[in-house]
Amino acid sequence: MKFNTKAIHAGQKPEETSGAVMPPVFHTSTYAQKAPNDHQGYDYARVGNPTRTALEKLIAGLEEADECACFSSGVAAIDAILKTLKPGDHVISTNDLYGGSYRLFTQVFEPYGIDFSFVDMTNIEEVDQAIQKNTRLIWIETPTNPLLRIIDIDAVTNLIKNSDILSVVDNTFASPYLQQPLLLGADVVMHSTTKYLGGHSDVIGGAVASSNKEFMEKIKFQVKTTGAVPGPTDCYLILRGIKTLHVRVERSVQNAKKIADFLTTHPRVGTVYYPGLKSHAQHQLASRQMNDFGAMLSFTMTEDSIESAFDVMKKTKIFTLAESLGGVESLISHPASMTHGSIPKDVREAAGLMDSLIRLSVGIEDVEDLIEDLNQAFE
Ligand SMILES: *Cc1c(COP(=O)(O)O)cnc(C)c1O
Repeated sequence: MKFNTKAIHAGQKPEETSGAVMPPVFHTSTYAQKAPNDHQGYDYARVGNPTRTALEKLIAGLEEADECACFSSGVAAIDAILKTLKPGDHVISTNDLYGGSYRLFTQVFEPYGIDFSFVDMTNIEEVDQAIQKNTRLIWIETPTNPLLRIIDIDAVTNLIKNSDILSVVDNTFASPYLQQPLLLGADVVMHSTTKYLGGHSDVIGGAVASSNKEFMEKIKFQVKTTGAVPGPTDCYLILRGIKTLHVRVERSVQNAKKIADFLTTHPRVGTVYYPGLKSHAQHQLASRQMNDFGAMLSFTMTEDSIESAFDVMKKTKIFTLAESLGGVESLISHPASMTHGSIPKDVREAAGLMDSLIRLSVGIEDVEDLIEDLNQAFE
């Protein structure tokens, strides 16, 4: 089955009692048993729910994974992955990381005795040098947020091929339509399903998918034991969103390319960060690793100040000033004060995240309206 067919059919079948084409939203906390432990695969809804199962099978199909487990949020999925580690374990991650992941790593897991090295993962030697005896996990996020750097998944996973170090890719920014990390050698793929998979900015969720049986057993143990599970309606919304993933992302990418071209020609714009531009440092790698270049982009203003960024964001009428990404509507945000507000200024700027940096999540509106909106905001 090809991707577009899978987005609609992977792991799905009509509901058995009625033939309903879409899975019902199973609002139940528990399931009748014929005799103790004699049931139809479900005993208690923290552990499993058929609506959740339908979603998990769909995401597993899209990521070419044997299994998937869904969570109540993206950070809950990350939390579950980190909880498979022990105090004294070491994690390598990128220095250009989603702010919420950075906060979770440094403010929750570091105090519990997990060590982290944040390195420039676009430089494969830095990753190699950061590997220690106690390294157990490499956390890859690509494209990175918000500078859209591309990390070579194949090269990083090759470094640790015959070791017991697990590689995890946060695939939220690309979506499986544009990038399938397990096919590039990663062990685990993780999503904030809040973003492209849900696609309509109406639900929070997370997912972990892998074909590593032992690892998925640990994740399912986390699901059952720590209980950050999504409700059935949330699962339904994400499932419904995924059915148009390919159509939505394709259009968003088309729009993003045109917006990137427009921005590069505007005198008030400094640097444009978009992997689809030939000027992007990892343009070749992105062409190889991704099916297309994505619909996220960032840019600085020629006058690098918080005020010049705020001025633009105040004036846009179609681009909505909001955190998040991956929905049908276009959003504009200011990483330094919003998503990355919890990263100290010196750490932030060392990673190239400047005060005037503006991030766009390009939606599926008419691109002429989007360009016109930015153009008037620059005046
Ligand atoms: C949003 C996001 C997360 C966290 O997901 P939530 O659903 O907001 O908890 C993790 N990683 C990336 C790259 C994200 O954009």
